[in-house]
Amino acid sequence: MIAPGGTIGILGGGQLGRMTALAAARLGYRVHVFTPEADSPCAQVAAAATVAEFNDHAALAAFAQAVDVVTLEWENVPVEAVRYLEEGVPVRPGSTVLAVTRDRLEEKAFLNRHGIATAPWRAAYSTEDVLAAAAELGLPAVLKAATLGYDGKGQVRLDSPLDPQAAWHAMGAGEAIVEGYVRFEREISVIVARGGDGGMASYPAVENQHTNHILARTIVPAPISAETAAEADRIARRVARALDLTGLVAVEMFVTHDNQVLVNELAPRPHNSGHWTIDACPTSQFEQLVRAVCHLPLGPTTPFHPAVMENLLGDQVSRWPEFLAEPGAHLHLYGKTEVRPGRKLGHVTRLVGR
Ligand code: AMP
Repeated sequence: MIAPGGTIGILGGGQLGRMTALAAARLGYRVHVFTPEADSPCAQVAAAATVAEFNDHAALAAFAQAVDVVTLEWENVPVEAVRYLEEGVPVRPGSTVLAVTRDRLEEKAFLNRHGIATAPWRAAYSTEDVLAAAAELGLPAVLKAATLGYDGKGQVRLDSPLDPQAAWHAMGAGEAIVEGYVRFEREISVIVARGGDGGMASYPAVENQHTNHILARTIVPAPISAETAAEADRIARRVARALDLTGLVAVEMFVTHDNQVLVNELAPRPHNSGHWTIDACPTSQFEQLVRAVCHLPLGPTTPFHPAVMENLLGDQVSRWPEFLAEPGAHLHLYGKTEVRPGRKLGHVTRLVGR
């Protein structure tokens, strides 16, 4: 156990790290962030920051010396960096979890191996593979780069007439996954925490609405049947157990028109669809991550209230005075100075029925 007063290292310096650092500080921990980015949202609120590349072994070694445990807020941290750190300090979740979740092919194979349903998929390493996959899965389909994709980046929809060469070119990928197109009724997610003793605590399933592949809104709880919510919860817990995870995993799922629940993606870290937990739950996802990686008891997760979380993307953030003036709106800004279209700069959570 790492008691309050200890130092938590965080790999990645974005808003997820920032909100984790704030939760850690409230419990008396210090946070040391490791990120290539100068003046990152997390470093602005952390006790210490190392600004270095993830392949800088000297910087990683000094970081490992300075912290009691390491967690991450970004799953594209190179696995080699995490393996290197693991020689000196516990990393939770560690390199084996990361190796599965940072590669869509590994992730889908892992899920299916554990009996968890996904869209049908094929691996593709060439345009010929894309053609063969499209023939087997049918069109439309979705072609995604195996690694480093997020918010719909590195992703193209394959429609007929199929031009696999153009699609492959657009991706610029050496390794890709082709997925059958899921005609879903809605997208949901469940975040589950797993502690050092294997005990778990999950948040209720929420609905996620996207605009241009970027999360726009999360609705709590998801308007789904109790059976579907229970099935989503079962799946998320099965994933956490199968990963042998210490920390958090967000499980993104599709609910089909016939109430099948298919897993789309895993994120072994706090997740945008859990930001509402700061304002509507006794324990936020960020505090829960701190508790899990420090081997403290997990906290209660039952929401006080239904809620709606809206992301502030790009220049939507300029509406902050409006949100400050709105009773019941909880405004969170991430300290990012550069405003770009679609960039996540903050969010607002409203408790419904207040
Ligand atoms: P991802 O990057 O895998 O999370 O995908 C981003 C978004 O693209 C998802 O939230 C869905 O809205 C959509 N999407 C991804 N995969 C599929 C699929 N196989 N069928 C239909 N829509 C998809």
